[in-house]
Amino acid sequence: MRKTTAFFVLIFIFLNFQPNFSYGQTQKPVITDKANLTPTVVEQVIKPKRVEEIVEAVKNNPGPISIGGARYSQGGQIVTEKATFIDMRDFNKVINFSPKEKLVTVQPGITWIKLLDYIDPHNLSPKIMQTYSDFTVGGSLSVNAHGREPEGAIISSVKSIKVVLGNGDIVSASREENPEIFYSAIGGYGGVGVIVEATLELTDNIKIERRSKIMDAKQYPAYFEKYIKNNSSVVLHNAYLYAPEYKEVRAVTWVKTNKPLTITDHLQSLDPADHAKKRAAIETQEGGLGQRLRQDIFDPIDYKQNVVAWRNYEAAHVIAELPVSDEEKTYILQEYFVPVNKLNEFIPKLRKILQQNKVQILNLSIRHAEPDNESILSWSPKETFSIVLYYRQENTDKARKEAASWTPKLIDASISVGGTYYLPYQLYASEKQFNKSYPHFDEFVDLKKELDPHNKFRNKLWDKYYPEKPTPVVYYVGPRDTGGGPIVLEKIRELSNQNKIQGYFNYYDECIEKNGELNCVLPGSRQLKPLNNLNDKEKEFYIFVDGKIKSLEELSKLGIDISQNKKDPR
Ligand SMILES: Cc1cc2nc3c(=O)[nH]c(=O)nc-3n(C[C@H](O)[C@H](O)[C@H](O)COP(=O)(O)OP(=O)(O)OC[C@H]3O[C@@H](n4cnc5c(N)ncnc54)[C@H](O)[C@@H]3O)c2cc1C
Repeated sequence: MRKTTAFFVLIFIFLNFQPNFSYGQTQKPVITDKANLTPTVVEQVIKPKRVEEIVEAVKNNPGPISIGGARYSQGGQIVTEKATFIDMRDFNKVINFSPKEKLVTVQPGITWIKLLDYIDPHNLSPKIMQTYSDFTVGGSLSVNAHGREPEGAIISSVKSIKVVLGNGDIVSASREENPEIFYSAIGGYGGVGVIVEATLELTDNIKIERRSKIMDAKQYPAYFEKYIKNNSSVVLHNAYLYAPEYKEVRAVTWVKTNKPLTITDHLQSLDPADHAKKRAAIETQEGGLGQRLRQDIFDPIDYKQNVVAWRNYEAAHVIAELPVSDEEKTYILQEYFVPVNKLNEFIPKLRKILQQNKVQILNLSIRHAEPDNESILSWSPKETFSIVLYYRQENTDKARKEAASWTPKLIDASISVGGTYYLPYQLYASEKQFNKSYPHFDEFVDLKKELDPHNKFRNKLWDKYYPEKPTPVVYYVGPRDTGGGPIVLEKIRELSNQNKIQGYFNYYDECIEKNGELNCVLPGSRQLKPLNNLNDKEKEFYIFVDGKIKSLEELSKLGIDISQNKKDPR
């Protein structure tokens, strides 16, 4: 055999005998968010195309059931361990469209990009959507999203929905019919049921012109009150608060116009290459110098230009414009909501925390929302300014720990002025902060108990804040030559049958021995890891509860007496 051939044969053999291939006959799928912050092992993934498939999956499954849209939420709102994960992205048809009534009914796995493609030829626009159009309608409704439309929360533009409840029933919900389901499923983060249909109000796709004004941040609330609020020509509005000083604001308003278009495209290009320039420009804003260049040089030049575009073009940007996370760094969002008359009190607190912690802000945008007294988990119970932070974070434990330490301070700062914070991002808020920020959560819990009595619909957000904690998931590993430690396994099965534990994974098939050490696929990871630092007794059997190796004492609290395994007749 020639040397090179032998080399490739060896490589082939090596690759085929990597642990990835030799363990895991029962390897489970891993679901993660777009920023890959929350990889989670699930039981199974289903990709429904018909509503009957969703009904079947929900009805015949004791749970947990998690629901995923485009997966842009960043704190595990789409998934939990051992879930049946419903991937909604193929459930994406337009069901009914009435240009005359300006209404569209969709399957909620549809992205706004696809919906825009459908309605734009009829010169119609969504009444409210986010700044980016890559999200699904279901994901947007479930977080009660908002964009730069000064009206605020998307719920005001939703006419009705249909929801599959835990028992498999499909119910219609609107302000008139089953209103409690309407108000809890919108903004309910997949906790009440699966939204399987949504009817949205549309508006005219008109030409809009950009205007901008620089001012001291302290003047902004008065400027908004005088020139933007109640101004019927305003279509989109936000303001940029420039880092790292957080003292100057650029208010940007898009108003109705009859002037000729300067951008004739109807919709944004979906080709990432067309956004390379913008992406690079955003990346250069990382760090203090980049922000100063933006504030003093780039933005003044850019905003001098006269821009007239279609509403659908400007309202619906694409994520391809934004820098891409990689192994070193990731890009994260956070959002705080404060009553309009408290913005000037909040900004100095925000400034202090961001500066002290050297947070690498790329963009800080202020938006407006009218009161939403419909959604039970409303983030704008009063007229609100929202402050959206977009920052870069290194993929290191140190950076994660730092963010986990300064984020709760920002939440406290918002709560101290009567504000709240947004839930689709990382779950750094304590239960106390969550309960303070969402004072009607009790009502939501009562409804969920009624609509989802077995707490089927779960994800990491609800696992953290829903008071009825899920019973622990036990991960069980028995070394191959012991036959799996039948006594412990029996006990675990018994506990599972009594519903004292959520269930168990037998990782028996996902372990191999390497250098005399047992290596297993740990929950939440696809990597094979050695199980070290265990004493001899513990090494006989490895048991994980909620992803952590538990001491014998802790296990005995769960009723698992590992010492019984001495009776194992192997
Ligand atoms: C770069 C970036 C920009 C953003 N900009 C904005 C913005 O301008 N405004 C804003 O409000 N938010 C914004 N967000 C947050 C984003 O809107 C939310 O994460 C939104 O939910 C994303 O939609 P999705 O399809 O990705 O939902 P997912 O992340 O997939 O799901 C979000 C939640 O909805 C639930 N869900 C999804 N589909 C259904 C369904 N059919 N039935 C029941 N529950 C369901 C999921 O279980 C989960 O709890 C931004 C996020 C990023 C990363």
